[in-house]
Amino acid sequence: MAMFTCPMHPNIKKEDEGICPECGMRLVPSKEKPKEFNKHEDRKTNVFKLRLLVSLIFSIPIVFYSDVAQKLIGYTAPAFPFSNYLIFLLASIVFFYGGWVFMSSAFREIKAKAPGMMTLISLAIITAYVYSVYALVMGQEKVLFWELATLITIMLLGHWIEMKAVSHSQSALKELSKLLPDKAELIKDGKTQIVLVQDLKVGDIFLVRPGGKIPADGVVVEGESEINESIVTGESKPVLKKVGDEVIAGTINGDGALKVKVTKIGENTFLAGVMRLIAEAQVSKSRLQMLSDKAAFLLTVLAVIVGTASLIVWSIIADLSFAITRMVAVLVIACPHALGLAIPLVSAISTTKAAQNGFLIKRKSALELARKIDIILFDKTGTLTKGEFGVDKIISVRPDEENLVLQYAYSVNYKSEHPIAKAIVKEAQNRGLEKIDVKDFQRLPGIGVKGKVHEKEIFVGSEVLLEKFKIEKPQEIKKIISELSSQGKTIIFVIENNNLLGAIALMDIIREEAKEAIKQIHNMGIKTAMITGDSEDVAKWVAKELGIDEYFARVMPHEKSEKVKMLQQKGLKVAMVGDGVNDAPALTQADVGIAIGAGTNVALESADIILVRNDPRDIVKIIKLSKMTYSKMIQNIFWAAGYNIVAIPSAAGVLADNGVFLDPAISALLMSASTIIVAFNAALLRTKKL
Ligand code: AMP
Repeated sequence: MAMFTCPMHPNIKKEDEGICPECGMRLVPSKEKPKEFNKHEDRKTNVFKLRLLVSLIFSIPIVFYSDVAQKLIGYTAPAFPFSNYLIFLLASIVFFYGGWVFMSSAFREIKAKAPGMMTLISLAIITAYVYSVYALVMGQEKVLFWELATLITIMLLGHWIEMKAVSHSQSALKELSKLLPDKAELIKDGKTQIVLVQDLKVGDIFLVRPGGKIPADGVVVEGESEINESIVTGESKPVLKKVGDEVIAGTINGDGALKVKVTKIGENTFLAGVMRLIAEAQVSKSRLQMLSDKAAFLLTVLAVIVGTASLIVWSIIADLSFAITRMVAVLVIACPHALGLAIPLVSAISTTKAAQNGFLIKRKSALELARKIDIILFDKTGTLTKGEFGVDKIISVRPDEENLVLQYAYSVNYKSEHPIAKAIVKEAQNRGLEKIDVKDFQRLPGIGVKGKVHEKEIFVGSEVLLEKFKIEKPQEIKKIISELSSQGKTIIFVIENNNLLGAIALMDIIREEAKEAIKQIHNMGIKTAMITGDSEDVAKWVAKELGIDEYFARVMPHEKSEKVKMLQQKGLKVAMVGDGVNDAPALTQADVGIAIGAGTNVALESADIILVRNDPRDIVKIIKLSKMTYSKMIQNIFWAAGYNIVAIPSAAGVLADNGVFLDPAISALLMSASTIIVAFNAALLRTKKL
């Protein structure tokens, strides 16, 4: 049965999908390890280099004594007694020492019932070696030692280059983990003492000296300083932090000294969260990658079949040595080496590139899909607008009761986290209004709040409440309200025992970047839509201001995912952008769910891609990166596998009549060249601008 494990806590193992009890991250199938990344994990680059050097040096005399080189260049190698046995000895060293890398990995592949490239290479070199030893003992002239030695050397070279490329692309995670200092200056009883970061506890106060790194997430309790947060936000301008402001572990302090109280440690810090996401992204496979894994497997099977067939056919129509050479050449050329790298290399580079550009990719297949998006659905508040409301006007039904209207709204909303509630609380406090005790407080999601004040039932919320209580707006305020609404202002009604007390008009600010983002999205031929719990008027006004194609107003939180489904049923590929808890189901339902940074953890958990900065323009970058990544992957699959259409038949000797057949070493060269092209082509992605 498939087991599931946590990418960050491999000791956690469960029988079904779920969430890691330690960090809350989604569990992944434990078999689903990034193959190419793990393949070389336990092999130190230096040992590899030594094997490569030894094989290279020993191959030189082997080639020098080969009859092909002598014939080709036209010299006669000085003969000495048992020279062929010396060549045998050298080739054996290359085979056992250099070839060990492949044979031990092949053993692992076979044990894991996943024969692949290593199995093919091993099959090729073992066949060549066993045959040559047999030929030598039988006193036959044709041995395959030079082919064997050069093959191993070139393969080692290819792998060594690959290891360098892969370790480079994996460095993003390592770089991030390096950001955290290992020690912190704890302030205890007025004295400072150096402690290990892992010994910090929530509530501890630590000192950050000028230029120092912040060891844990916390709140400034003393001092003022500019902090470079570029690592987490991508924003290079330092941010001023004063008492009460939050600081993030891993960011770099400027010129001031700060005393910070720890709020989060270890696994719970922002940085740990980001690292978890990257680790999760690295194990998540894109669809193209699954396709290329399958292609690699098929190629292996094909190689064995064609190889065996050419061995049989050629040993009948020519001699055994020629037949074995053909088989070895086929096995080598078909090695799905480059294919195994084609997708992971591009993926690794694009994930890093995404992080550099302010977004984190949690699910790679979502990035792959982003290029096909037809419509982007935005949640209005907090995404297109700043979500920081300000009270614009208070209207009371009875004369001079504005402050009473606000006071009730304030008291009932005191415990609410909604941006509208925060604005009301702030305005009331600015006006010095007193809070009245509230009983039976209750949230009405997507509508508002209710509570008992002085034994009276007070409702504060949207127009839905008026309909619910069948309240008609009095003529004298109707006109003012409709005018304010048509200006894009959100209207909140305050109801006391089924009677309308008054209304509060609030104004949210449209993000300047949103306008630009919508324009750029339209330029890419993608449609836009907006979803909001707000009134029809406000939705219409904001949509018009931003040039959004379509809007859905007065949508209840639980209906958001229904709207996504509805668009999908029209045959559209939908991306959803949101930030709140009530966006989570819609984010999951969408083909591509994009959470906007500062939002809630729930939104982050359900999203496929996370915008670290709250900048909707980054969505355009996601689509651009998606297109770039896809075309690079397709190019790489071509470079990795396409050449086999010509190469396999040539290696098998189909064109032997015309004097065209690939030798094993030439096959190895071609195969390695394809790997290098693939690595190089992937690296080009790094230089592209988004
Ligand atoms: P939401 O779906 O959270 O954006 O809410 C939709 C609408 O419900 C808002 O535009 C407000 O009209 C109303 N609303 C939600 N929560 C509150 C609250 N705490 N106080 C007043 N009105 C609210």
